[in-house]
Amino acid sequence: MLSYKERFKYFLKERNLKYTPERKEIIEAIVKLQKHFDAEDIYKQLRKQKSNVSLATIYRTIPLLIDSGLIIETLHCRDKVLYERIYNKKHHDHLVCINCGKIIEFYNGEVEKLQDEICRKYQFVATEHRLGIKGYCKECQDKLNIKNNNSKEKNKRDIKHDS
Ligand SMILES: [Zn+2]
Ligand SMILES: [Zn+2]
Repeated sequence: MLSYKERFKYFLKERNLKYTPERKEIIEAIVKLQKHFDAEDIYKQLRKQKSNVSLATIYRTIPLLIDSGLIIETLHCRDKVLYERIYNKKHHDHLVCINCGKIIEFYNGEVEKLQDEICRKYQFVATEHRLGIKGYCKECQDKLNIKNNNSKEKNKRDIKHDS
């Protein structure tokens, strides 16, 4: 198994692209970041590394990182696009709190199996899947006084903000 740096270098070579100092610094930042991160987090990490890579360069490099199979766009939450490293990582799905931004990761064999069955039924070959459930975490339910009834009537649920 190649390291993130080696994998990225190899990918760029295959595409006849240069392993520029900027690209090197970005991949070095990526491996140091927390689990789920956005472009701003990459930028902040680069500043910590005393790198001058601009946010525009980061945005231009992200598609390359995705194409190389190193990171994936995990989810959109509160106007943010979050990414995470997937190279050499186990698959998992996410629960996202739309109030505080907390992300809970889970893996459920039954869910995975069910998805395989659905693909089989439609003679579909899956290359990836992403399951993201948005809602409110336990703490935010209490804070916002949201009843956890998990009913079909969730659209009618009234959310009371206490102020
Ligand atoms: Zn929350
Ligand atoms: Zn994750």
